[in-house]
Order: sequence, then structure tokens, then C-alpha cells
Amino acid sequence: PPTVFSGIQPTGIPHIGNYLGAIKNWVHMQNTHQRVLFCIVDLHSVTLPQNPNALRQSIFDTAACLLACGIDPDKAILFQQSDVPQHSELCWAFTCLTTLPRIQSLPQWKEKSEKYAKDINVGLMTYPILQAADILLYKGTEVPVGEDQIPHVELAQDLARIFNYRFGEFFPKASAVIPKSARIKSLRTPTSKMSKSEIDVKSRIDLTDSPEVIRGKIKKAVTDFTPEIFYDPDNRPGISNLMDIHAAFTGLSSDEITEQNKLKNTVGYKSEVADIVTQYLTPIREKVLRLREQPEYVQQILDRGAERAGDIAQENWMQIRKLMGFK
Ligand code: ATP
Ligand code: MG
Repeated sequence: PPTVFSGIQPTGIPHIGNYLGAIKNWVHMQNTHQRVLFCIVDLHSVTLPQNPNALRQSIFDTAACLLACGIDPDKAILFQQSDVPQHSELCWAFTCLTTLPRIQSLPQWKEKSEKYAKDINVGLMTYPILQAADILLYKGTEVPVGEDQIPHVELAQDLARIFNYRFGEFFPKASAVIPKSARIKSLRTPTSKMSKSEIDVKSRIDLTDSPEVIRGKIKKAVTDFTPEIFYDPDNRPGISNLMDIHAAFTGLSSDEITEQNKLKNTVGYKSEVADIVTQYLTPIREKVLRLREQPEYVQQILDRGAERAGDIAQENWMQIRKLMGFK
């Protein structure tokens, strides 16, 4: 059956890039598909050092944010990756089906290996293989992600093809589902994407930021010295990123936004964007604050999700073991 699968790393509080690039689509797809799984990918998060207490907190916060955004545990299986051990087992099988040059050619590896050159661990190179295992363990066919994940979904397609060729037809083709607003940029460096793991918190707007914090971050967002408001992502990445955010939260086009704001300067326009973002995020933030008062309720949802995901994983893993000759 068509199966939706996607994941998010518990590396902090989800931000508006995660929401507009992925989570918003998740909420939509849980209504259009029967089998839907969303995974808090804790095994991925330890490719960079994580403080254990902070990691526990991030797992909870990520679950709470997903629920607050509208993920419905009756429609979607929401679970924590390390609760289902078959992710790691299938990852190992896939690790033995891919080549070093294939994974070293992935763009995120190139970026991260330059950035963390000094103390890089092997997991940072091989985690896209784990990602392929995450998707294919459930025979995922649709993968709603942001644009930065396209090369990784392509790796999953390659691995499915290689496995099927060697051991017999088993895995379907997993396709990335990418929304229009699939790449929200950093508010501080508007040429790179907004990220949870970026050290400068002013580079992103978290889903739980208060109105004052949102206003402050947008006010300080890097723009250029042209006061007029018009859309030109190549030459004016800063202001164009704010217009992308504006468009994504309102459904307006960049032409409509330019027309509506042609009498404003940058300062006035930033204040307008802050209002729109605040208005959209306020109910989400309030829901997260309420869920923080009910940690057992959130944990129950994750436990139930792990059971349901585990059943599918176990069934598929048994068949994979047979096909590979382990059993
Ligand atoms: P980290 O920096 O720890 O990798 P992240 O912000 O990149 O965090 P992930 O957990 O890696 O978030 O990704 C979760 C989902 O959000 C993925 O589908 C990813 O494509 C999407 N996503 C991440 N950043 C953005 C962004 N700036 N714009 C749009 N989508 C994004
Ligand atoms: Mg990421």
C-alpha cells in the first residue's frame, strides 16, 4: 500500500523551516493516506555530540511540537527511532550494499566534512544509509521532506534497486514529496538553510518562540541596503527569504506581497512579517506549553507508536532476512 514515511532529528526545538518544509505537509498527508509514519530520529541526532539530558528534552519537545502542529496519533504512527531496533539492523545490510564513493559524493557529507573536519565521526558519513533503512523498513513510497533531503531519498531509491536486483523484488520506489516553500534560509546567513543545529539562535525562529523573541529575531535578520521591497532571491537573499516566509504562511504570491508592501521600507516590512509569523505560531506555542504539563500523555503516544511501528518493522525484517539468506 502507499506508505508515507518521514523523520525529524531531536536536535532542539523545530523551527519554521522544519514546519514549512516538512511538518505542514505531514499534517496534510495524514489525512490523504492510510499508512503514515513519522519518526523522531534520535539515532541520527548523535552523529553530532549530544548531551544526554538535552537529548531527552529534545525528544520530548519534538514530539510535543509535532502534536501541537496537528499530527494526530490516531491517523499517523508517531514514534521514536531507537525504540525499533530493526532500523539499525537494516542499516547494516544496506551499508554492505553501497560503496564509499557513492556516499562520499552526497552534498551534506561534503559540507559537514569540511565544517567538522577535525573530529568527524563515521556516523556523519553513513547516516544517509540509516535514513534509507528508516524509509524502506516500512516500504515507504512517499517521503515528505525539505529540499535538502532530495539526494538522500535518491540514495534510498538506489539501495532499493540494488537490493531488489540481488535478492528479489521487495522494496518499492520511495519518492520525495517537496512543497513549494521547501527551503527556508537562515535569518543571519540567508544563503544557507535555517537549521536546528546552527549555534546562533538568532538564525532561526523556533515554533515555541514568544512574540517578543520573534519580533527581535526578524528585526535583526540580515537584509541589504536597498529600502524597497521586491523579490530577487539571487541578488537579495535576505529580504527574499522574509518574503518566502510571508508567502508560505499566508498563501500569497511574491508578486502580491511586493504589490501590497511597495510603500513600506525594510523596517516596516519586517514588522509586518513579524506580525504574520506571530499570529500563525501563537496557537502552536500555546499547545506546546500545555503539553509540557502532560509529559505522561506525550510518552504514551510515543510508546503506542513504537508498538505499531515495531509490528510493521518486524514483519518486513523477517522477510528481508529470508531473502538475504539469514533465515
Ligand atoms: P539539523 O540542523 O539538526 O540537521 P534541521 O533543521 O536540518 O536540523 P532536520 O531534523 O534535519 O532539521 O530535518 C527535518 C525536516 O525538516 C527534513 O524534512 C528537512 O528537509 C526539513 N528542513 C530542515 N531545514 C529546513 C529548511 N531550512 N527549510 C525547509 N525544510 C527544512
Ligand atoms: Mg538537517
